[in-house]
Amino acid sequence: MIESSIEVPVAINEPVRSYAPGSPERDELLRTVSSMSASPIEVAAYIGGREVASGERVAMRSPHRHDMVLGHWHGGDPSQVDDAIAAALAAAPAWAATPWSARAAVFLKAAELLATKYRSVLNAATMLGQSKTAHQAEIDAACELIDFWRFNVGFLPKILSDQPISSPGVWNLVDHRPLEGFVLAVTPFNFTAIAGNLPTAPALMGNVVVWKPAANAMYSAHFILEILKEAGLPPGVINMVLGDPAAMVGRALASRHLAGIHFTGSTAVFRSLWAKVGEGVGEGRYRSYPRLVGETGGKDFVFAHPSADVDALATALVRGAYEYQGQKCSAASRAYVPASLWPALRARMMDVLPAITVGDVSDLSHFMGAVIDRRAYDRITAAVKGALADTGCEVLHHGYDDRDGYFIRPTLIRVDDPGHALMRDELFGPVLAVSVYDDARYDEALSRCANDSEYALTGAFWARDRAAITHASGVLRQGAGNFYVNDKPTGAVVGQQPFGGARGSGTNDKAGSALNLLRWVSPRTVKETLVPPTGWRYPFMG
Ligand code: NAD
Repeated sequence: MIESSIEVPVAINEPVRSYAPGSPERDELLRTVSSMSASPIEVAAYIGGREVASGERVAMRSPHRHDMVLGHWHGGDPSQVDDAIAAALAAAPAWAATPWSARAAVFLKAAELLATKYRSVLNAATMLGQSKTAHQAEIDAACELIDFWRFNVGFLPKILSDQPISSPGVWNLVDHRPLEGFVLAVTPFNFTAIAGNLPTAPALMGNVVVWKPAANAMYSAHFILEILKEAGLPPGVINMVLGDPAAMVGRALASRHLAGIHFTGSTAVFRSLWAKVGEGVGEGRYRSYPRLVGETGGKDFVFAHPSADVDALATALVRGAYEYQGQKCSAASRAYVPASLWPALRARMMDVLPAITVGDVSDLSHFMGAVIDRRAYDRITAAVKGALADTGCEVLHHGYDDRDGYFIRPTLIRVDDPGHALMRDELFGPVLAVSVYDDARYDEALSRCANDSEYALTGAFWARDRAAITHASGVLRQGAGNFYVNDKPTGAVVGQQPFGGARGSGTNDKAGSALNLLRWVSPRTVKETLVPPTGWRYPFMG
């Protein structure tokens, strides 16, 4: 149905609340954190509008407090995926026939509920379950998810109103159909907003969805679903399955009805999904060619020109590398600094890093919480230990402690070799590697920054010299899908900096933009001839 004359509310970015001492939001948040941490919950799968609790309970613990059990999730076996697909396909005809304005209303209501009644709940869930500070939770779980829901609704009528021209006696139109089948949404632990966006963006476009959240973000996933239910999402449109990732996802990929995958997570997992889908396509398993949208890993750079402002650069590095413990796909993890600036930058960083406190995020004075789980802690600390034993590395600041939670201090390492693994591999933790380059070999360092990495997600260039900015922007053009000038490489805002990268970082379908929503429609072109001809002979035949 096309109703392109309807106007939706103009989307405006949700204002970020400060949580400063004395603010009403701070009191409410702290009260909610305290009451939620004392009230464990059960997280069940959600299929066809019904909760499915298998009884196979897995504890959800706070990354910053081993002794805090937030509740349990109920793991299902792969037959749960079959049920979810069946429920999705049963809901598909009615949902596809629902006027787009009615679909949009569900997500506008969800955004409003999140901005008001559920704001402190989803923020507290993200703090407790994923160890985000109040500010990191606010910009993710509240503001970014509200923005995704409101801006996606804003893009929808623009997409629908993009119509072809008609010629005399003919009316042409494009019917923006949903995909035929179901979309599989597979979401990461590190952004509550992404967990909320990946299933809902295809659903807004009329698709039905099977959603598999990350095991270590089930707690916040549960509350996202609560909001969607209260907003009036019909049963079967989004179905959440819980269980072993490879087995659950594998079962979904075996279905003839797989129409698309909306994935965010690591490069290795996305590559494996792509390969399995490729196999299925080769076998003729699927009814259509599944759409594959994946935003994946990063090794995000900060490159400093000799004209950079050192104080501002140091702040960008501290925030860009260490906020949320470096567990943002966009986190700065490799920096290139000219030898002429390094002593001043190093001194500035070494002033700041010891002052950063790492701890339980319900104490709002901390800048950092814990890394997500034991596996992450072991992986990151192994790399730090490796650097301590490596004569090619100078570990300038580090520390770790897992007695109460998975705490890793902001870690700064200068490497001799710009091709060192710490400059190359995604570590996904609070570790910043710095390569100090000879000012006389600036072009070589810039070229290495642009070309060395298998990833191309975010990157920042720092300079006061305008000609250097113009030149570097060209050299680094394919090096990042989100490029920042004199800013940190994190903190993309929906509607302002559409997000996504290329190379091993993903398909660059720009979450939170019309480009992404276009992947979830399969346009049908309709030509209607108003008065069809009745004679079969053409004039030239006369
Ligand atoms: P992950 O790849 O471990 O998990 C992502 C999702 O895939 C989860 O739901 C997980 O359960 C599932 N999964 C894991 N193994 C699987 C398998 N064998 N088969 C099928 N599914 C499987 O990633 P993560 O640790 O949750 O998130 C961190 C990663 O996500 C980092 O690499 C980060 O850069 C990336 N990320 C990218 C973006 C972006 O926009 N580019 C945003 C956020 C996170």
